[in-house]
Amino acid sequence: MLIAPLVEDDLDSITQALLVPSPVGGVYARTGLFERAIEGLSSFISRHREPETQVLRFPPVMSRVELERSGYLHSFPHLLGGVSCLKGDEAAIRAAVKQPDWVDELAPTELVLSPAACYPVYPMAAAAGPIPAKGLIFDVASDCFRHESTHEVGRFQTFQMREFVCLGTPEQVIDFRTRWIFLAQRMAKLLGLKHELAPASDPFFGRAGRLAAMSQLEQSLKFELLIPIRSEEEPTACMSFNCHRDHFSTVWHLVTANGDQAHTGCVAFGLDRLALAMFRTHGLDLTKWPAIVRENLSI
Ligand code: ATP
Ligand code: ZN
Ligand code: MG
Repeated sequence: MLIAPLVEDDLDSITQALLVPSPVGGVYARTGLFERAIEGLSSFISRHREPETQVLRFPPVMSRVELERSGYLHSFPHLLGGVSCLKGDEAAIRAAVKQPDWVDELAPTELVLSPAACYPVYPMAAAAGPIPAKGLIFDVASDCFRHESTHEVGRFQTFQMREFVCLGTPEQVIDFRTRWIFLAQRMAKLLGLKHELAPASDPFFGRAGRLAAMSQLEQSLKFELLIPIRSEEEPTACMSFNCHRDHFSTVWHLVTANGDQAHTGCVAFGLDRLALAMFRTHGLDLTKWPAIVRENLSI
């Protein structure tokens, strides 16, 4: 199938038809039109799920202690959001809400907002014992939060992430990622999306973070599938393919069937960005999307 160039509708009219802004940058209500694409994409991804994959859907919050242990606080403190509440008896809470600066009275809870869908899966898998010889694959999803410093189109503060996660031997994880890098490009083609694969690094915090990002690039630990949203010249990361090596298995003592340290990896789909890319490529009128694309998305 021919890969279409971007439609002529300008970016503003596209986002206006899909997302209703809130008073807070990067936070939107999603319209019915946008949701139809999200639903289509979600079931399209489900149809590509590998056999014996375990499905888990997570809430938008997770354990603060688990995220700390995962190393997130050290690597991405600038992106993290915590859940804070008013505590105390009725009198204390009533007094707090009367204050103009009542927010100062908020106290932390044991919850943070999940910054990626896969974090809760590693301790869960570790609690179930050694990883079986054939490895483990999970299909996970959650709403995610990141305290992004800019809010250009496609960079949300809260967005929907879907992931496949592999836990097993180093070879199983490499194979998993290789399969998905191939499959994801085929999926993009089936959706009529212009795409390119690129080596990438995570937005690690601070000066030490720049070293971590360089080492991640050198070791080819992260790739992204870039698809045009804002422009063809600067396409946007809509999927990522990540190799964590023994990072999570060291933290959570994940071992393989024969007692060796496990490796982990994940492939992540940014559903909101993928939906934006679909409208940007094929236009706002779903009936005008190529027949094969509509079939693939059951739209
Ligand atoms: P970016 O390079 O744009 O900052 P990232 O490399 O930090 O993204 P990952 O951590 O790999 O992204 O997250 C997996 C996927 O989630 C991304 O490929 C993207 O599609 C989506 N995603 C990440 N951050 C955002 C965001 N702020 N808004 C919308 N989608 C996002
Ligand atoms: Zn992940
Ligand atoms: Mg990136």
